[in-house]
Amino acid sequence: MAPSNEFNAVTVIAQDAIKKMIELGVPASPANYMVWYHYYANSHPDLKRTIDVLLDNNQDFDDAQCAKIYEQYFTLDVESGLLDSASGSFEKIIDRAVQYLDEAGTDAAEFGETLADASGGLAGQSSPDEARDIISGVVNATQEMENRAKVLEERLAAASSEVADLRQEVEITRREAATDGLTGLVNRKRFDITLRETAAEMMEAGEDMCLLMLDIDFFKKFNDNYGHQTGDQVLKLLAMTLNECIKGQDTAARYGGEEFAVILPNTLLNPAILLAENIRERVSRKSIINKSSGDQLGAITLSIGVAKYDFGEPLSELISRADTALYAAKNQGRNRVLSENDLVSPSASAQN
Ligand code: GH3
Ligand code: MG
Ligand code: MG
Repeated sequence: MAPSNEFNAVTVIAQDAIKKMIELGVPASPANYMVWYHYYANSHPDLKRTIDVLLDNNQDFDDAQCAKIYEQYFTLDVESGLLDSASGSFEKIIDRAVQYLDEAGTDAAEFGETLADASGGLAGQSSPDEARDIISGVVNATQEMENRAKVLEERLAAASSEVADLRQEVEITRREAATDGLTGLVNRKRFDITLRETAAEMMEAGEDMCLLMLDIDFFKKFNDNYGHQTGDQVLKLLAMTLNECIKGQDTAARYGGEEFAVILPNTLLNPAILLAENIRERVSRKSIINKSSGDQLGAITLSIGVAKYDFGEPLSELISRADTALYAAKNQGRNRVLSENDLVSPSASAQN
């Protein structure tokens, strides 16, 4: 049998993927192969764009880099599992609705036969008694038909409300899968996705994007002094403050433990630094009160690093620049904002 077009197309993609992996020295593990297969199949345009940017920048495709790409694009297990099971449930509801409609179709056909018989009987010059029987038969059949139509209507209404419930459930779970349980902010996984998508959008539009990395100062000590639960309250308070400071298109995320990140699309470096200052200042002005005892626990402070996205650079570099600025802020005494512009080495700045 001659190979199908689909077979040929898949084989070409597979060959391209393997060839490229050999060229780049990428081990042909199943995960790596999946990444490169989808790159050549162009089934995930974002993935293709990311890899193209990395290739343009002559980035190494070592195990860590490939693992990162694989994780970003292929491991949304919670969501895909949920969607699988939801689509199974949708299918069941639709099957049932189709079965109801089939039954209704059979009922209608039977009713049609009853009417045809009746009209045949009436046309056959029946006696008044026979005619009365025929008509009462038709009345009964009509009532029966009405009852069945009512049952059908109820069943379809129930199925439609099941679909609505299920849709809401999917929406809630999808949101939960992207949300940090303690603070309600976007979680790390969603942060990675949002950063990637926003960077691609900004690059296409030629608009600036900045990233803030924030870390609570001496938080270990705070926990040691006042307990982990009070520490958790502080994380919630901080999340609320972040939400108060950002606007619609910005994304505040819990990056990990007591570290946070804010993605600022359409934002230049200086306005991003001003926003970071505003956040830092607001947080440092809040006095923390122990909910149960009412005791004043003083204030907490933040160190913040700010970086601007260079079109085409790997996002890990953007994060790393913001992180470096953050740790410089820690080193310079904490409770301050530093940006990538503050990281220029003395020799480089002497040349400028
Ligand atoms: P630095 O100013 O250098 O950032 O000091 P630090 O103490 O904040 O930093 P370190 O990394 O030494 O400690 C981080 C602390 O954050 C330790 C950990 O107990 C606390 N932390 C991380 N996640 C949570 C959380 O979910 N809840 C609470 N209460 N504390 C957390
Ligand atoms: Mg930390
Ligand atoms: Mg800290």
